[in-house]
Amino acid sequence: MDSSNSIVRTKEDKRKHKTCVSCGGALPKRKQKYCSMDCRDKLLFALRWLTNLLQPLRTRYASFFFTGSKLIINLISYHSKESLTYYSNRTPGILPAKDLQNMILSLSRQWHNENERMNCRQLASISVLEKAHKGAASFDSIKLKTEKRISKVFKYMTCLKIPMTVLESESAHQTIKSAYRKEVMKHHPDHGGEDELFISIVQSYNEIMGWIKNPTYSARRGIRGMWSYDGDLQKWYPPM
Ligand SMILES: [Zn+2]
Repeated sequence: MDSSNSIVRTKEDKRKHKTCVSCGGALPKRKQKYCSMDCRDKLLFALRWLTNLLQPLRTRYASFFFTGSKLIINLISYHSKESLTYYSNRTPGILPAKDLQNMILSLSRQWHNENERMNCRQLASISVLEKAHKGAASFDSIKLKTEKRISKVFKYMTCLKIPMTVLESESAHQTIKSAYRKEVMKHHPDHGGEDELFISIVQSYNEIMGWIKNPTYSARRGIRGMWSYDGDLQKWYPPM
């Protein structure tokens, strides 16, 4: 089990990606991760190639990310006790997805040459892994994390102006009740408050209390700022 589970807010970090997670370009308004679906597909296509390389390397976890000048693949392999890192320089004017394909092609070529030379898949893999930089990243930074999310009640908590952390505190009941009372007094239609706002305050309180009685969470996997790969499932996750 992952020890790094944490509760996070959801709506708040909706636009946390300032740039497209596929190309690094500007993110149009209302887009949350990718500048376009076409752009997303280009990187997903390259990552499928990468999966084909990561399999013979017996990869348990991997991450991929790019900066303005470099592409970086980190991995944890059953063949190695240390983390392994491959770097490649980016080509100006070329999408990271295209550069990634070239990087994978070069590593795959090495693997095939070694496999041909030694006629052994495992030795070919070990030879390619030996060319990686060792120990540059911590295991913890490459391993996938799972975050628990309370998305359902965020807007209700915001309506009553209560921080999300209160939900799991021991005094949740009391804090929410007093926040509710305060808002009700302030916005009661008898004291000149708006009907609509008053109704949402009452509804928010009921929804939050309902959630406390029966808490539900959604989970999301990934690593902040990096694409991450689970070798057991052979699946890539976009940056969180
Ligand atoms: Zn893009």
